Amino acid sequence: MRVLGVQAVVGVARCVGCGRREGVLCGSCSDEMRSADPREAPRPLDRLLCALDYSGAARSLVLDLKLRGRSGAAPPLVDRMADELARSGSRARVVTWVPGRRRETRRRGFDHAAVLAHGVARRTGLPARPLLDRVGGVFDQTSLSAADRWLNLEAAFTAGRCREPVLVVDDLVTTGATLRSCARALAEAGSLGVEALVACSAQAR
Ligand SMILES: [Zn+2]
Repeated sequence: MRVLGVQAVVGVARCVGCGRREGVLCGSCSDEMRSADPREAPRPLDRLLCALDYSGAARSLVLDLKLRGRSGAAPPLVDRMADELARSGSRARVVTWVPGRRRETRRRGFDHAAVLAHGVARRTGLPARPLLDRVGGVFDQTSLSAADRWLNLEAAFTAGRCREPVLVVDDLVTTGATLRSCARALAEAGSLGVEALVACSAQAR
C-alpha cells in the first residue's frame, strides 16, 4: 500500500509555475496568468483573438507543449482559449490549426496546434478539420527579423476547399505573419471569413 501511495504522489505533475505537485497548473499560478492585450488582425484575417500574455506560467505551458512534447500542458491553455472565444462571439463554423513542421511534429509525437484546436472544438461543439498544409522550402523563422518573416511566409500554406467561416488555432502569435499567410490561403480556398485564436500573444522584437 505504501509503495502505491508513493507512486500516486510521484504521478501528480508539478505545476509549471511554482513546481508544487498540484497538477500541471495550480490554482494560484492559474490566477496569475495575464490576459493578452487586444491585437489588430493582419489582413485578410478578420479577427485575432489572444487568450494569454506570453509570460510566466502561460509561457511555460506553451514551451512544455511545443518543445517538451507534454500534451498535459494543453488543457489549461484550451480553457482560456475557449473562454476568450465565448466572450468574443465568434462566427466560425469550423476549427482548424496552423500545421506544425513535419520533422518537429514527428519528434514531439503530435502536432501541438492540432491538440489545442481539438480541445477548442470539443469545448465549442464545432468540428475540427485539417484544412491547412505547409508548402515546403520555408526557412526556420527564429533566425529572421520581423520584416524577413513576412517575406518568408508569403504563400507558405495551402488550404483545402471550405465554404464556411473558419477559426484557425495556434499556440503563439508574434508578428502575425503565419496567421496572415494561413488566412490568405483559406480565403483563396473559399472560406467565408477567417478568425484566429491563439493561446498566447508575444510582441515581436
Ligand atoms: Zn503553481
